[in-house]
Amino acid sequence: MRIGHGYDVHRLTEDRKLILGGVEIPHSKGLLGHSDADVLTHAVMDALLGAAGLWDIGHAFPDTDPAYEGISSLLLLERVMEMLKNRGFSVGNVDATILAQRPKLAPYIPVMRENLARVMGVPPERVNVKATTEEALGFTGREEGMAAHAVALLEE
Ligand code: MG
Repeated sequence: MRIGHGYDVHRLTEDRKLILGGVEIPHSKGLLGHSDADVLTHAVMDALLGAAGLWDIGHAFPDTDPAYEGISSLLLLERVMEMLKNRGFSVGNVDATILAQRPKLAPYIPVMRENLARVMGVPPERVNVKATTEEALGFTGREEGMAAHAVALLEE
């Protein structure tokens, strides 16, 4: 078994869609980034790559490459899964936390779990997603951005 950790931050801005775990969430602001800026999926990918000893998503999918502009992060996760499969890894489980002041994410979490689990080829019970505010403190509290943490266990 191999364990990995991922952490990511994206800035909130107007005129962008808010996409978390592949779910488009109605909100006045969205996350800024080269891809769809899905901060949850990015943290999950970094946890998976970390567990496999494969560095991080910045090296797997450079943001200088126009191929990744606006790309769905679920497609990037699909590629991460190919990299893992080629090296003989499968996903044991993933646990992730989104840090966001607003909006309330609870109604969308079951679909985020289903999306991530489908791409990872595991049942949704093996992909836990949580959301918390940081009590109006810091950059997430000021609604300047969102962050996500993830840990992943891989089986070899
Ligand atoms: Mg990112």
